Amino acid sequence: MKKKVNAYNNVLELIGNTPLIKLNKVTEELEGAFYAKVEAFNPGHSSKDRIALHIIEEAEKRGVLSPGDTIIETTSGNTGFSLAMVSIIKGYSCILAVSSKSSKDKIDMLRSLGAKVYVCPAHVSADDKRSYYNVAKRLHEETKGSVYINQYFNQLNVDAHYKSTGPEIWKQTNGAITHLIACSGTGGTISGTAKYLKEQNPNIRILGVDAFGSVLKKYHETGEFDNDEIYPYRIEGLGKNLIPSATDFDIIDKFMKVTDEESAHAAREITRKEGLFVGYTSGAVLQAIKQYADEGEFDVNSVVIAIFPDHGSRYMSKVFSDDWMHEQGFFDSINQEEVQKIEM
Ligand code: PMP
Repeated sequence: MKKKVNAYNNVLELIGNTPLIKLNKVTEELEGAFYAKVEAFNPGHSSKDRIALHIIEEAEKRGVLSPGDTIIETTSGNTGFSLAMVSIIKGYSCILAVSSKSSKDKIDMLRSLGAKVYVCPAHVSADDKRSYYNVAKRLHEETKGSVYINQYFNQLNVDAHYKSTGPEIWKQTNGAITHLIACSGTGGTISGTAKYLKEQNPNIRILGVDAFGSVLKKYHETGEFDNDEIYPYRIEGLGKNLIPSATDFDIIDKFMKVTDEESAHAAREITRKEGLFVGYTSGAVLQAIKQYADEGEFDVNSVVIAIFPDHGSRYMSKVFSDDWMHEQGFFDSINQEEVQKIEM
């Protein structure tokens, strides 16, 4: 008789079921128990694996996609990586329209995964025909058998988290969760996860994280789109200069804004104190936890689940580069690196 080999059939079978890891040091001065859902354990190293797989499989079920067809999206970030990975296994072409602001490393990474990358000028308005939105739209119209993922305006993005992230957290905490805290970019993660969790227990508090320079918090509080809220900032993947339909503002109890500088230090703190090499927005989540704690959001009975969206390796030339931190002026107030050099 043939012996059974214990192996996964392909890399996609490893998507989801990410671990919850207790935060021991970074929150030790706060009341409550804090756990991180570490999405870097997905094979594509971010939560975007979940939406890439779900959206593509739904398109297959609906008969919109068959092998040899094309996946199109506008992203240089995590979603691009995940789509390129899923496309390889399922036999699709992957076309990504990215902004010329994207680093060479990122573009090379996507090309390494077989994606065809169109680099579009960054400094044109969204309605310019050269903008990456319009290039993607045009490619979609011109390419027969193509699917435009459009994650900011695609309900399947939310659905992916409603079907996976939410149930996983409920099961992992045995229903003990009192607070969910997550970044909002497209809003898919927080909206879908919250929907499932609130259906189980409507008292769970849903805490959003937004960036200074983004409109989401103000829109949540006033219902108004305030252009004055918008200015450039460094954190990638968090906050927005438009209102994504994938964000369910009604399900979010509160938003907290965080700065580039404090979030960068917080990401480095998680790495050094917990040994967890996670990305910039995980730092944003930790920073927001501290600010929510200052406002008295948590008590000794709180069980807080924080979503850490991706892996630190994506930020080697940014948050995890001392040179970059210096260039941003982020070492001006607390110069940890210089202190270490002197002590050596
Ligand atoms: N962090 C990172 C690094 C991301 O790429 C994203 C996605 N834009 C988010 C957080 C926010 O996730 P969501 O789009 O589901 O709101």
